[in-house]
Amino acid sequence: MDALDAKYPFFASAREAVAAAAVSLPELVAADAPAVERARERVERALLEGTVASERGAFPGESAYDAQAELLSYPIARILVSLLDSDPAIEKYAAAEAATAMERVRRDLDADDELRSVSSATVTLDDLLAEFDLADAVRPDATTSAGVGRGVAGGGAAGTGSAGRDPSHYRIDVGPYLRLTSPDWGDSWRLVNRALADGAVRVSRDELLVALEAAVEARVAEGLPFELAADEGIGEALESRVADLRRLLSERTYAEPPDVIDRDLFPPCMTNLIEKAERDTKLSSAESFALMAFLVGIGMTPDEVVAFCADTSLDAEGIRYQTEYLTDDRGTQYPPPTCETLANYGICHNEDDHMQVAADPLSYYEKRVAAADDVTDWRAGREADDATEA
Ligand code: SF4
Repeated sequence: MDALDAKYPFFASAREAVAAAAVSLPELVAADAPAVERARERVERALLEGTVASERGAFPGESAYDAQAELLSYPIARILVSLLDSDPAIEKYAAAEAATAMERVRRDLDADDELRSVSSATVTLDDLLAEFDLADAVRPDATTSAGVGRGVAGGGAAGTGSAGRDPSHYRIDVGPYLRLTSPDWGDSWRLVNRALADGAVRVSRDELLVALEAAVEARVAEGLPFELAADEGIGEALESRVADLRRLLSERTYAEPPDVIDRDLFPPCMTNLIEKAERDTKLSSAESFALMAFLVGIGMTPDEVVAFCADTSLDAEGIRYQTEYLTDDRGTQYPPPTCETLANYGICHNEDDHMQVAADPLSYYEKRVAAADDVTDWRAGREADDATEA
């Protein structure tokens, strides 16, 4: 199995490599092979962080998993997502596979020619367009790439210099453009706001990559969820991993958050996580998800969470991704995990046996706010600081 298939496991060649390999997914799952743990990580990170890259090493080359485990983790991850059987989970998983793939594509495209000539594990734009049957539908834009008018496939080593290989704009036929893009992405994507000539729409290179990300996402989502053959026993073998993922994404809903932010009343689990991040220690995926879900659960906006966590190891971009995901308005928001789940992840230490008081950190906080004689709202302090600065 080659490294390129492991890196882009949704490619047709990767599917063929899996089919041709003498491996049985039910046997791999039954044996709890490394690909199974990698698949669980793939789905967990997709749902919580919007990436499927391994926490134990970034691609290419440095992954702690070998190419075979990396490649086989993809079909197993699809099985896990099918077993989760949740539309929001499928959406998030497909989006994360696509985002991770396009990050790798961008790195491949930026790699210099020397690296590309020694590594077979990089793709070109031509490869990607061919993979999605877009080779004839996308052309470098002749108006911005002097001397380039013969299609992307004409670029590369035999192209017309750097502008030929990597022009800044392309023309994409209107059919594929409409299929791969959405007016929901903003006014600039609407056809009426686009330069349209000879049945083709002008797009920048970055926009073309965004459209290709949509193509990857659609391919990953295709066929999900699927039914598993009952006699193969995969569902039973993966039961505990699916249950963990479900618990982490507990679907309890809350009527109204307390909408007051008093750190002194936070439950110990959340205080511990904040203090850990303030010591500049990196939080694990589960830890940062639990903290973000709690802060969003008490009514903080993404901007407020960024400000609240300004002096911690959490970076603003990651906070924004997670909090926006948690607060989106399509019914896919996930409330904070329960105390039991947090205990399973080693986040809860159940100080003074207060698990008796509430089943989850948000309920515990609500009770403490309701019982407090005096509440100091962080928002009020922030507004006062802003007023002083002004
Ligand atoms: S019992 Fe619940 S609220 Fe308390 S520390 Fe554990 S997870 Fe947090």
